[in-house]
Amino acid sequence: MLDKLKKLTNNISITRFALIASLLNFVLFHYPFFDFVFRHVDYKSLNGILIIACLIILVVIANAFVFYILCYISRYVGKTLLVIFFILNSIALYFVNTYNVIVDESMMGNVFNTNTSEAFSFFSFKFVIYIILFGILPSIYFVKAKIVTVKFKRFITTFGITLVFIVAMIFANASNWLWIDKYSQQLGALVMPWSYTVNTSLLYIHKHKQNRKEILLPDATVKDDEKAVVVLVIGESARRQNFSLYGYSKNTNPLLAKTENLYHFIANSCATYTTAGVKCILEHKDTEKLYEILPNYLYRNGVEVVWRTTNWGEPPIHIEKYQNADELRKDCSGEGCYYDEILLTGLKEQISTSTKNKVLIILHTSTSHGPSYSKKYPPHFETFKPVCNSVELANCSSEELMNAYDNTIVYTDYILHTIIENLKQLKEYKSTMIFVSDHGESLGEKNLYMHGVPMNFAPKEQYEIPFIVWVSDSTRGVKDIEAVSQSHVFHSVLKFLSIDSPIYNEDLNIFK
Ligand SMILES: [Zn+2]
Repeated sequence: MLDKLKKLTNNISITRFALIASLLNFVLFHYPFFDFVFRHVDYKSLNGILIIACLIILVVIANAFVFYILCYISRYVGKTLLVIFFILNSIALYFVNTYNVIVDESMMGNVFNTNTSEAFSFFSFKFVIYIILFGILPSIYFVKAKIVTVKFKRFITTFGITLVFIVAMIFANASNWLWIDKYSQQLGALVMPWSYTVNTSLLYIHKHKQNRKEILLPDATVKDDEKAVVVLVIGESARRQNFSLYGYSKNTNPLLAKTENLYHFIANSCATYTTAGVKCILEHKDTEKLYEILPNYLYRNGVEVVWRTTNWGEPPIHIEKYQNADELRKDCSGEGCYYDEILLTGLKEQISTSTKNKVLIILHTSTSHGPSYSKKYPPHFETFKPVCNSVELANCSSEELMNAYDNTIVYTDYILHTIIENLKQLKEYKSTMIFVSDHGESLGEKNLYMHGVPMNFAPKEQYEIPFIVWVSDSTRGVKDIEAVSQSHVFHSVLKFLSIDSPIYNEDLNIFK
């Protein structure tokens, strides 16, 4: 026994040491992780077993991989970091087990906002036991172990093989990405030591972004007193090819198809993920920098601006009327309050009671956000059946997945139609509704799902977006152009609301 222990301490190879550290890390700290997995996966099904097996292998191998690299760079650094990780892991585990928290970004925010006296109130006997058993004891082993390093050639070989193995594992599981994506926040918050390290980094990156100063645009002036309102609807993961307005074979736009003064353009998004797509819709040009975005710019220059959202990921908004779902729900009644219709709560009244002549309403929807497409619309919008109700994709046929997604487009059709009907009733206003999606969505084409593939090699499903416009006054209408970009939104809104600005670009305006 003692002999064996000695073998594990004296002259242990770096590969073995990394594996032992990773196994210890797995056994000691991943009970909550797999407890969560077992509660959210059908572990009696073949696919469920596959998910669990792959997650176990990935957690062990990926952690061993990182520990291996760290120890190769410097045995001293590797050991020190392992000691720090295990102590912090034991603290995190104590909180996860005792308070049922998950160590996500907001939790790390709470941790850093806790003062010393609050921190001491968590101190207990159990806490000390956790630190000694799970933190200090393994650390003694790490400090004592005499690691033998390997030659560079050997390191590179192990590095390469492991990396290929990890990537292959991830791709072999492509059909379970939806499941992992759905629970990514919870899973990521339970895998040690990355939960607190990654989420602390994210917290600071986001804080930094929030404080990022936008470049102000030159002042604008409102040219006339005509009452005008723009409702800009930002779609989520709405892809063009599933809109019957654009020729889709299934009738996903029954209401908009019958709407007069409705126009649709060909458009591509500038990116395949929300934060970048929304930024492009709101800025006057596609740029890496952060310029003053449309709502902030118009608000600063005397326009009534309202932002309503069931989504997230927009650039910092500096306006008075920022309303999220929780706030809107207070005045909402009925089934629709649990779906994107909530964004329309009291909308007409909000416009008509405005003291300003120029009004911009932005509705940031989440209607087609995956992977639970079938949960994004009220049951009576289930036009196409059967639908995929699982986020474990292997349990659904591609037809079921497409049906669920198409129902979100039918629901989008209803929401846009309702907005137009509301605007029609505001007779004293010249009005327009502009619908543009942040990006598209993959639904199994080329074995890809969701979105976020870098633009350079993204499939067209992820960037071909709908751009739909309705105007109250047919005599003014839109220009005879076929294709537009997300940057057209900014200039078209300026034009429609008769706002004079040195930044205005007539080439990017769709209105006559
Ligand atoms: Zn999005």
